[in-house]
Amino acid sequence: MENRIYDAAIVGGGIAGYTAALALKNFKTDFLWAGTVPFGEKLRKAERVKNFPSFTGSGAELAELLERQRSAEEIPFLKAKIDGIYAGENFLLTSGKDTFTARSVILATGVETSAAKGARGYLGRGVSYCAVCDGSLYRGKTVVCELSSAAYEEEAEYLAGIARRVYALCRYRGAKFRAENIVAEEGEIAEIVGSDRVGGVLTKDGKTIEADGVFFLKDSAPPDVLVGGLAAEGGHVKVDRNMSTAIKGLFAAGDVTGRPYQYIKAAGEGLVAAYAVHEYIVHEKDFA
Ligand SMILES: Cc1cc2nc3c(=O)[nH]c(=O)nc-3n(C[C@H](O)[C@H](O)[C@H](O)COP(=O)(O)OP(=O)(O)OC[C@H]3O[C@@H](n4cnc5c(N)ncnc54)[C@H](O)[C@@H]3O)c2cc1C
Repeated sequence: MENRIYDAAIVGGGIAGYTAALALKNFKTDFLWAGTVPFGEKLRKAERVKNFPSFTGSGAELAELLERQRSAEEIPFLKAKIDGIYAGENFLLTSGKDTFTARSVILATGVETSAAKGARGYLGRGVSYCAVCDGSLYRGKTVVCELSSAAYEEEAEYLAGIARRVYALCRYRGAKFRAENIVAEEGEIAEIVGSDRVGGVLTKDGKTIEADGVFFLKDSAPPDVLVGGLAAEGGHVKVDRNMSTAIKGLFAAGDVTGRPYQYIKAAGEGLVAAYAVHEYIVHEKDFA
């Protein structure tokens, strides 16, 4: 555990998180910027970006320009998936076995794309987004995990060390596992079934797998899973004009707060959130 207390932690590597980091750097705020990939996966997927002032080209080209700027401005990026944010006197953030402490948080985690039917309803009743956090609940049991990329094979192996059997549904080709109790195939979960708790899954190709627990091993989790007590509206985090959420010291920016899902809107909100964090930190220090 780091003893350092950051003034701010930015969670999410997309354009909202990056713009917030850029502004906090200018404010000379002590911040941590954590995400899965700098500038986010979505930016690199855009074939042609036509609505970003003064820029026309592919998302990958825009990412290159941003990387040049990030490097010139010396903005540090921590490659880490944050799997829990806990509000208290300060915020405690967990990433596997690592923990970080910050006085404020900007949530810039983007939007969830695939959501299997029933995933939300069974949350805390057999559905989890973090193998390290919840794996121990499934000792000797059977779990299904859906992996978004090979980066999550380690987490599935971790589950295999606890559970009796792990069914790994991989949303990519060429998965490789060492543990003998992992049954792997390409696939995706269509629906989670059960009664008061998870009983199994239906896959998109029509198969039924019985299981005691289901793990979605992917880059993002719904924001209210990441932080308890967030107010949500239509699946988005509710914010005011300063990007403040229902939790004191916690701000949100980008797609996570709602439509339109666009770079400029995300970047603009990242900037506003950084200003709000700056105000908040200065104010907190004045009254400490
Ligand atoms: C194919 C495609 C083309 C697009 N084209 C355009 C376009 O031309 N113009 C336009 O304006 N918009 C376009 N968009 C929309 C645009 O990509 C989004 O509006 C923008 O990326 C939102 O930025 P964001 O920072 O809010 O979120 P994201 O870019 O989604 O970034 C969020 C990041 O946070 C990470 N993350 C999530 N949870 C965690 C966690 N717990 N710990 C650590 N990291 C986490 C995610 O993995 C991701 O990297 C396009 C989207 C797609 C999919």
